[in-house]
Amino acid sequence: MSDAPVQTQAGLEAQPPMPVRRLHNFIYCPRLFYFQWVENIFQENADTVAGSHVHRNVDAPSKLEDAKELGLPEGAKIRSLRLESEALGLIGVVDIVEGGPDGAEIIDYKKGSARRNAEGERVAKEPDAMQVAAHALLLREHGVNAVRGAIYYAADKRRVPVELSEELFAKVRRTIEEARGVAASGRCPPPLKNDARCLYCSAYPICLPNETLWWSKRRKPAETDGQTQFGFIGQTEDAVRDRILEALDFAAESGKGPPTLEPPRPEHDDGEVLVVQTPGAQIGQRGDQLLVSVKGEDVRKIPGQQVRAIYCYGAVQITAQAVETCLDLGIDVSYFSPAGRFLGLLRALPASGVDARRGQYRLFELPGVRLQLAREVIRAKIHNQRVMLMRNGDVPERVLKLMVNFRDATESAREMTELLGIEGNAAAIYFEQFESMLKQREDWKFDWRGRNRRPPRDPVNALLSLGYSMLAKELTGVCHAVGLDPFLGFMHQPRYGRPALALDLMEEFRPLVADSVAISLVNRGELGPEDFMRGANGTFLSDRGRKAFWEAWFRRCDTEVSHPEFEYKMAYRRMLEVQARQLWRFVRGEAAAYHGFTTR
Ligand code: SF4
Repeated sequence: MSDAPVQTQAGLEAQPPMPVRRLHNFIYCPRLFYFQWVENIFQENADTVAGSHVHRNVDAPSKLEDAKELGLPEGAKIRSLRLESEALGLIGVVDIVEGGPDGAEIIDYKKGSARRNAEGERVAKEPDAMQVAAHALLLREHGVNAVRGAIYYAADKRRVPVELSEELFAKVRRTIEEARGVAASGRCPPPLKNDARCLYCSAYPICLPNETLWWSKRRKPAETDGQTQFGFIGQTEDAVRDRILEALDFAAESGKGPPTLEPPRPEHDDGEVLVVQTPGAQIGQRGDQLLVSVKGEDVRKIPGQQVRAIYCYGAVQITAQAVETCLDLGIDVSYFSPAGRFLGLLRALPASGVDARRGQYRLFELPGVRLQLAREVIRAKIHNQRVMLMRNGDVPERVLKLMVNFRDATESAREMTELLGIEGNAAAIYFEQFESMLKQREDWKFDWRGRNRRPPRDPVNALLSLGYSMLAKELTGVCHAVGLDPFLGFMHQPRYGRPALALDLMEEFRPLVADSVAISLVNRGELGPEDFMRGANGTFLSDRGRKAFWEAWFRRCDTEVSHPEFEYKMAYRRMLEVQARQLWRFVRGEAAAYHGFTTR
């Protein structure tokens, strides 16, 4: 059994000097190092933000010349000293260098506490000690002899000494070599298993370590899994395939007991979605607040930190300052036409690297892989349509049986056209029965004649169209966030302006999210015929109707649902991301199959 890490498609060929903090990442977890150094995926969590706060007192940068000019006499102190060495292949910023009687002392700041040894004494944690030693090596390279090191642990409010031994320096040099080797390999190391380090890791929401191990164990037999059957890993690439599978086995089987599955922590704190739909409204910024005004009058003020996303409907302006704040804080701004069509998205540059995109472009060229993924999302969609009919409708048993037949037939579809035929037949039956899920009212008789669109010609179709548009928008944002290209799908064809992958990923969620919102708005009496406008261009919601729609939409997205495999509960909004991250794993070669989301 090999402990080779998982093969991905890229590595760092020409490596610039590595920041010492990446070395610290490597010692903490090689996978975290790979995410941050090779793939450029950065993720802040409460710990990293608090860490930056701890450094605020030492972050006034100095230059090495200051140290040389000063000669570091006893008592001299230099803050945030930036050092680089080509020979070491390192670059780093030392928090504080102090001149002492026999040489310099390095002090690095850390947010947490020191470790206690067997005697109960405070000692530096190993990655922290190695970071200090790496800084000492950098200083030596520049002619300053560092004889002592220490870590100031903010939680303990005290300095803990680090002995700068030759043994420690040798270990640092070896670790630099190992880290550079991993970076050059193009193989993302497998996740740790049931390891306490994951609890404090900022990359946890991206890494999903236990879910990754779980998915790797749920691999189908080699002759039927997607990577082998459909040529992801071709016959000529047997060695690569074996390495992937061995690495996954190693990761899944190392450690004791099965992976512990906890709901993944959110990537960001959940904030509010600010919906602005008054024509002529303006979104501005004052201090750390976002300000909505209409005709010069302030109508809403909210701290930017509390906003997760902004939806702008029609003629809504946003000032340059507010745009900058949104980009800084990671607030997505979505633009819709007055009728609710999703037009586009403003969001900060994606942090993810290129591995996933390369894998996506390569794999989605392969008809077998496209078919395998499409089968899974269509199977899940038909299953979920049947669940909706069972939960909400009054449907004959034979219809439910037919839906089971269609669902199961997806697994043996050999061509995309065959699969789409099955999907179309199932959809025809589902929408034939759709009316049975709607409570008829005395004052509102539905003239349901099945699904119609572009434009929707009746209120229920208007609600469905808006719901699907919202799902496409959500998943477009999710694809960007996880590092997938939303415009290259495995089932929907690429077409100008069409987020084909978002449309693919939304299939399994259409009935459970969009259809469910439409049914609940009607059945709970939250909308009536007066909330729709009908014209030659179709049927659309009025402003009041849209408000009711948003409330129902956010309610549904925040509804918790059990994950079919992990069994923990999470909101639908988070589930969209977990599914997209599962696909991210597949295209990076960390999972052999994609499992659609189904509910009971
Ligand atoms: S979550 Fe765990 S396995 Fe994943 S990068 Fe962080 S420490 Fe490593």
